Amino acid sequence: MIYFDNAATSFPKSPRAIAEATVCMRTWCGNPGRGAHFLSRATSEKVYACRELLSDFLGLNAPERIVFTQNTTFALNMALKGALRHGDHVLCSELEHNAVLRPLHALQQERGISFDTFPVLGRTAEQILQEITTRIKKNTAAVVCLHASNICSLSLPLSSIGAFCRARGLLFMVDAAQSAGHLPIDMHTMQIDALAVPAHKGLLGIPGCGVLALGERISLSTLIEGGSGVNSLSRTMPEEFPERFEAGTLPVVAIAGLCGGISHVMELGSTELENRAKRLFFAARERIEALGGFEIYEPTAAGAVLLFNKIGMPSTELARILDKAGICTRAGLHCAPLAHQALKTPTGGAVRLSFGAFNTSAEVDVLWRVLQHEFC
Ligand code: PMP
Repeated sequence: MIYFDNAATSFPKSPRAIAEATVCMRTWCGNPGRGAHFLSRATSEKVYACRELLSDFLGLNAPERIVFTQNTTFALNMALKGALRHGDHVLCSELEHNAVLRPLHALQQERGISFDTFPVLGRTAEQILQEITTRIKKNTAAVVCLHASNICSLSLPLSSIGAFCRARGLLFMVDAAQSAGHLPIDMHTMQIDALAVPAHKGLLGIPGCGVLALGERISLSTLIEGGSGVNSLSRTMPEEFPERFEAGTLPVVAIAGLCGGISHVMELGSTELENRAKRLFFAARERIEALGGFEIYEPTAAGAVLLFNKIGMPSTELARILDKAGICTRAGLHCAPLAHQALKTPTGGAVRLSFGAFNTSAEVDVLWRVLQHEFC
């Protein structure tokens, strides 16, 4: 099997993620903050160590503001629904995933918020800021955008957008589903107020856990309420972070796996991982272009994702042919309908190759041979 679907979830998982998750289940899988015994205390300590690791890794320097969630989508819902108030206006990029678009749509229906998208394709950082500026209204409260697209290799200039938002008093919320582990992230220098991160993609962890990292300026209402292990007499969630936002039992096994995955990514280095993805991208693009008869969408931005089609063939059919040859890809719209529109793919979408930490150029050679055998 050749796995080119790392944007959906990375595979294989880091051996360190597997080892840490296994050690957790065998030795310290208590319930943190819910037990008058050493196992619960040991679990609390391990979970806190993971908050510290994440806080350093993401340039937050506030472990208590690392909130564990079940995935990126949940983290984005918490940030958007917790921060936006009736009548607010929001700006988001044209490349957003449904994890941002659907909560914004729900808020539009339920809370009367409005939102506009700003174009980013083919634009410099300065031009993107101009696009944002022309769309700002009196009631604009936040800019929400992804760091890296899930359907092409474009990444957004977060430092510039962050500085822009800070200067205008706008909240800056970032979807790092496709960048954490692939591109360096520093919440402090990028001036990010809320950052949503998955454990199971570029950080090589296991599914079941995500992170909402909160900067010091943002204040959120809670999305869900429940047991927190502290102040049980109160009818409301505690004020303290992270307990305020972590109702119910934490996914400690996935948190342990995430710790292992991050330490693996740190050893490999985000810059080296970024360069490795670019090498695979260039190799795949060159070979697909040389075959002829294929269209590549946004071929200029190099990185972990390459979107393409066989001209005249539905994307699902191309993905099926690759699947038969043992090559895992994803076809269709990838939960990013506006982004597909912006890239002008056909209504049936396109096939996505997404590279991960363990892919090799030999695997790109196999892809090329399969395409050559099937179509030339
Ligand atoms: N945002 C983007 C850009 C994504 O690619 C994804 C995953 N496809 C998500 C959000 C949602 O991530 P999760 O599955 O962890 O909720």
